[in-house]
Parts: sequence; structure tokens; C-alpha cells
Amino acid sequence: TYIVNDACISCKYTDCVEVCPVDCFYEGENMLVIHPDECIDCGVCEPECPADAIRPDTEPDAEKWVEFNRKYSEIW
Ligand code: SF4
Repeated sequence: TYIVNDACISCKYTDCVEVCPVDCFYEGENMLVIHPDECIDCGVCEPECPADAIRPDTEPDAEKWVEFNRKYSEIW
């Protein structure tokens, strides 16, 4: 899965949402998140993000972001 991290906070771009083939972005007041179970790992959103906030879950600090993205995509 891909995740959105805190570099997204208050970003006004939603280019990532538009390219996602499975509509797995969820939008809160300050940022977007990706539902980790719905993301098909296609990677097309990553280069669309001007804040570099969309990262693969293979990065070292990804685990906490996966849980964060899961939690908020279920709330929003
Ligand atoms: Fe959507 Fe693909 Fe990005 Fe996952 S990697 S959030 S499926 S665009």
C-alpha cells in the first residue's frame, strides 16, 4: 500500500485523488489519507503529489503511517 504522511497537511492539491483508479483517498479537514486495504499499490498517485507526501509502505517509518491512514480513512 501507499500512505499519506504529514507533508500533506493543508496541501490544497487533490491531483492524487483524481488519478486513483480505485478511489481509495479519504479527505479530512487538513489532509488526505489512503485506505490501506483498498489501495492496489499501482503507484500512479505518488508522482502527482507536489508535497511528496505519498510514500510506499516499504519506507522505515511507514508502519505508523499505515495505521494512521487506516484509522482516519475509516472515520472520514
Ligand atoms: Fe490509489 Fe494507486 Fe495511489 Fe493506491 S497507489 S492510492 S491505488 S493511485
